[in-house]
Amino acid sequence: MSQLQFDGRAVIGGQRVAALSGATFQSISPVDGRVLTEVAQCGAADIDRAVGAARAAFDDKRWRGLPPAQRKRIMVKFADLLLENADALALTETLDMGKPVKYARAVDVNSAANCIRWYGEAVDKVYDEIAPTADTALALITREPVGVVGVVVPWNYPMIMAAWKIAPALAVGNSVVLKPSEKSPLTALRLADLALEAGIPDGVFNVVPGFGPEAGSPLALHMDVDCIAFTGSTRVGKQIHVMAGQSNLKRAWTELGGKSPNIVFADCPNLDRAVEAAVGSIFFNQGESCNAPSRLYVQDSIKEKFLEKALALVPAYAPANPTLPDTVMGALVDTLQMNTVLRYIESGKAEGAKLLAGGEQVLQSTGGCYVQPTVFDGVRGDMTIAREEIFGPVLSVLSFNDTAEVVRMANASVYGLQAGVWTSDLNKAHGVARALRAGTVHVNQYDEDDITVPFGGYKQSGVGRDKSLHAFDKYTETKTTWIRIDSPV
Ligand code: NDP
Repeated sequence: MSQLQFDGRAVIGGQRVAALSGATFQSISPVDGRVLTEVAQCGAADIDRAVGAARAAFDDKRWRGLPPAQRKRIMVKFADLLLENADALALTETLDMGKPVKYARAVDVNSAANCIRWYGEAVDKVYDEIAPTADTALALITREPVGVVGVVVPWNYPMIMAAWKIAPALAVGNSVVLKPSEKSPLTALRLADLALEAGIPDGVFNVVPGFGPEAGSPLALHMDVDCIAFTGSTRVGKQIHVMAGQSNLKRAWTELGGKSPNIVFADCPNLDRAVEAAVGSIFFNQGESCNAPSRLYVQDSIKEKFLEKALALVPAYAPANPTLPDTVMGALVDTLQMNTVLRYIESGKAEGAKLLAGGEQVLQSTGGCYVQPTVFDGVRGDMTIAREEIFGPVLSVLSFNDTAEVVRMANASVYGLQAGVWTSDLNKAHGVARALRAGTVHVNQYDEDDITVPFGGYKQSGVGRDKSLHAFDKYTETKTTWIRIDSPV
């Protein structure tokens, strides 16, 4: 760990640079409260400089002008470099935001590399279209990169959230300005170094660290940014759409919060697997996942057995130092988030839910931010912990008896990101999956999907989809070229 060197300067136009104001902020590790490094505290002037570099790169075609097969090779090299630097990237992520290093390595680095490789490999295999016209015309429907893409991402999966947006955006030829969260900026900055090393030209991929209102807003408001892609809270996501409308009507795509229902019917095909998935998915990443199945609906007749099995698993998720190789539950991202989670736990108790496990801050002597895995039973749909996204290791258990009733309860949320259904009945699985208002429905598993399928929400979980070939829709304009043919024959 001591060999890791952090560089908190921005990457603009292919160079490491300080903020124009000279301002910095401290990157503090939630593992033990230590200061990791000083990070450039960029503002509107730095965003302007980065957008200028991105625009220049777009206009002179140094990247988008390359044949797709050449961009592919560079993207694949970029992915390879992530894997070559996997251990250092994983440890950096762990120190910066608190997740267990074993998952930072096996999940975050691998998924980010896989995503960059997948879009790189896809880009020379996607064809444009010719419309079915009469013989007197040829109508081409072609895709063009949208231009300069602004990307704002949160702290929970810093590399993956960035990769889901920068990979399709870069692959099709855009220039990108990425603002990572001030809580976890270090791996994003390393991604920019590795992109340059792979051969992505100067100015095509810029990373500008700073705080949301100081650096994120100027990016969303910038008149020379053509598209803004955001992952984070619904509150800020709404502001992103407003800022897009207030400025140049840039395309705005938002992946926002969730309060995903996980419905376990009595005819669930494998109860142990359902219990492991329910518990493992809510406590994975300390519960800091937008798609965490935080509302668990268990059919009355199996609830007692289900909870007994679930509670037996909880001790295995006791928080520990995330830099240790066997740790499965690390630190929450910072004191602010930890206190938010603890407040939600207090509200659960005050509103009458029954605390079955956890509920306390632990490991205070480390100087880090640790909360026990927490389970509430007897939760009602109107309680705060059943309605609001907690973004921490807190499972709310509700019960039901009737299928229509549980679908109604599951859909009674402002969110619609994901859902889970466990049943052996194929008709019920399909019927309930169709009735659930969610971007992804997991059946007899939770979160086993991969890069080939879209990810995004209904309702206030956002607009647009990450992952899969559908992501290209967000970062391209569709052009029609209608050509008259006056054939001599
Ligand atoms: P935010 O929405 O506040 O932050 C997400 C990103 O937006 C960060 O880079 C942040 O910058 C930036 N940002 C903040 N304010 C603005 C602004 N006015 N203009 C432009 N950009 C801005 O989420 P948090 O990270 O604070 O997390 C809070 C809650 O959001 C969580 O508890 C959870 O409910 C939800 N969330 C959902 C996620 C998901 O994947 N769906 C992921 C993360 C959070 P900075 O952090 O540097 O200020």
